[in-house]
Amino acid sequence: MKHFGIADLRFWLTQTFVWPFRKPRFITLLGGPGAGKGTVASQLAPALGLTHLSTGALIRNEIAQGTDFGKQVKDLIEKGALAPDHLVMQILTRALKSPANSRGVILDGFPRTLAQAQMLDQLLASWGVALEKAVWLELTEADLIERLSLRRTCSNQTCGRSYHLTFEPPKLAGHCDACNSALYQRKDDAPEAIRTRLETYKQESAPLSSYYKSSTAPGVFALIVPTNSMTKEMVLEKVVLALSS
Ligand SMILES: [Zn+2]
Repeated sequence: MKHFGIADLRFWLTQTFVWPFRKPRFITLLGGPGAGKGTVASQLAPALGLTHLSTGALIRNEIAQGTDFGKQVKDLIEKGALAPDHLVMQILTRALKSPANSRGVILDGFPRTLAQAQMLDQLLASWGVALEKAVWLELTEADLIERLSLRRTCSNQTCGRSYHLTFEPPKLAGHCDACNSALYQRKDDAPEAIRTRLETYKQESAPLSSYYKSSTAPGVFALIVPTNSMTKEMVLEKVVLALSS
């Protein structure tokens, strides 16, 4: 068991003296792999003054740094499987308690399972707060496959921006517009891994959506149905509208 450290003390102080006046906002973007969660979150977060927290990026960062957590999940992720709930929860909790995220976060890629959704609600409840919205981006399987197979990601871990070779190509082929690092195809965006991810998603998403529709407070669940013919601005507009309703 970890000792109560400076970071925990700082979190406790924020929670006790700042939160009563300015409650942090917790919003999650859900949907299949390639649904555009990262794209929406990266535009929405600065607009709302919140942090974009991608559990996928947190996990890839741990893998790149070769931490104990990274080693444990590396093989699973590369096969297109999910990291175990308790490990993801551990790394997410640490990120949520960071002073940098004290105004609230837009979660991208979490929760992915019913168990994770329940753990998140329990964690927030223990802090006296609650999830504000679960925004569900629902695309057809054909649209998801088209997006994933042509997705390219910035190799710079602190940037991690993603591109689509047809819909959103980089200005200079093979290089990130933001930081000029090389773009690569994530191992889990390879054809075999895509099939596994979509299969996993189908199995996990049904109980997750019914949880948000029926077990959480009314108005938490918001359904958005983007298609590949919509621009990202059109999708963002729908999400903004859902958040204000
Ligand atoms: Zn970049």
